[in-house]
Amino acid sequence: MRIMYPPFDDRTSAGESMYALVAELFPICRSITGDGLRQTLRRLQQNVPLELVEVPSGTQVFDWTVPREWNIRDAWIANARGERVVDFRRSSLHVVNYSVPVRARMRLSELRPFLHTLPEQPDWIPYRTSYYRESWGFCLTQRTLDALPDEEYDVCIDSSLAPGHLTYGEYLVPGRTDEEVLISCHCCHPSLANDNLSGIAVAMELARRLSERADELQYSYRFLFIPGTIGSITWLARNGDAAARIKHGLVLSCVGDAGALTYKRSRRGNALIDRAAEHVLRRSAGPDRIRAFVPYGYDERQYCSPGFNLAVGCLTRTPNGEYAEYHTSADDLSLVSADSLAASLAACERIVEILEHEARYVNLQPHCEPQLGKRGLYRPTGGTALPDYEMALLWVLNFSDGEHSLLEIADRADIEFSTMLRAAQDLDAHELVRRAPLQPRRDTARRASMINVAQSHHA
Ligand code: ZN
Repeated sequence: MRIMYPPFDDRTSAGESMYALVAELFPICRSITGDGLRQTLRRLQQNVPLELVEVPSGTQVFDWTVPREWNIRDAWIANARGERVVDFRRSSLHVVNYSVPVRARMRLSELRPFLHTLPEQPDWIPYRTSYYRESWGFCLTQRTLDALPDEEYDVCIDSSLAPGHLTYGEYLVPGRTDEEVLISCHCCHPSLANDNLSGIAVAMELARRLSERADELQYSYRFLFIPGTIGSITWLARNGDAAARIKHGLVLSCVGDAGALTYKRSRRGNALIDRAAEHVLRRSAGPDRIRAFVPYGYDERQYCSPGFNLAVGCLTRTPNGEYAEYHTSADDLSLVSADSLAASLAACERIVEILEHEARYVNLQPHCEPQLGKRGLYRPTGGTALPDYEMALLWVLNFSDGEHSLLEIADRADIEFSTMLRAAQDLDAHELVRRAPLQPRRDTARRASMINVAQSHHA
């Protein structure tokens, strides 16, 4: 097995490894089914033991049907001299994704309705799909189209659309309880770097890192690498039990560009995942980088459909549709960077830290401040502003009345959660505060079974 990622926590090298994965996967022609998707998932198996699930074409999944499997070997438009003027081997975007097979000779005027360009961006190839309507077409630059004389062309799309399977990848990092955090990303786009591959790379690295410290995790982490829309619908249709265990979740996409991080809230709007993401983005993101839920976008649409209404938000840098290169050949390797991927990964890890450690603490000596200096906890230099850590000690002591959670205190104090957590753990070690259950659960029966699971794990 090839080891892609160095086993140490170095931000730069993690960014470079993720970028290398994006670059390696970039040329593959993926779709919502087929060998390009399989090849991508098999490559990911080199990093973590991802399970590949194959669902037969024709399987009913809620109101949808798993489509026939699409595979493509080659495609071109050739002029009278046999020169390929449009060549699938140069870009997987050149063929409308899910095109039926075609072999024809036609004049440019006849071919014209099957050609897609971007007149406003004459050097970019558009990305087009036709999953649920039988058709075919080519995508090319406006400049290429403008240079084509009106003569006869040989047209070939060597594809097949036949009963087969829809493939998705699933990987569970088992924590101490069976309550789950879902990390989901789509992997159905062909040669596009930011939309699709950046999310895969960050999710993969997060999975690898969490798997190395699974025994300290409170939650189990389920990673899904699925074709957009039909993949999440298929997973939800087959995994109602697992879906019921999902407490928090994130859809990752477009996390490699230079734009600021953006978080789209879950449909619930004020779930812990929403508050955790907002806390992490608070300093880096402007007010417009926290978005309300809308029933559009990526697979959060399915996870947040009313029958599930899971606490799943969507983390991006520049969101889908808000950058010029979106769904064009300009969403290439130059649009994403190792630094942006690394910063996105860091944001995911900080969100995970909050999910893992959010708690209420109770001050065991609430009458006036305990003397921290004599316990070695407090070493401010007289007359200077208190460092965040010392401030965090005072905040935790004052607001740990059982009413305020650590995240609420961190937000109120405008101090990083990780600093607040360190203060709370230090105060706990000195028996000045005690960790209390977050909140009485409504599903007490489930909670009881959860505790049994945790206890048997420790036994
Ligand atoms: Zn897309």
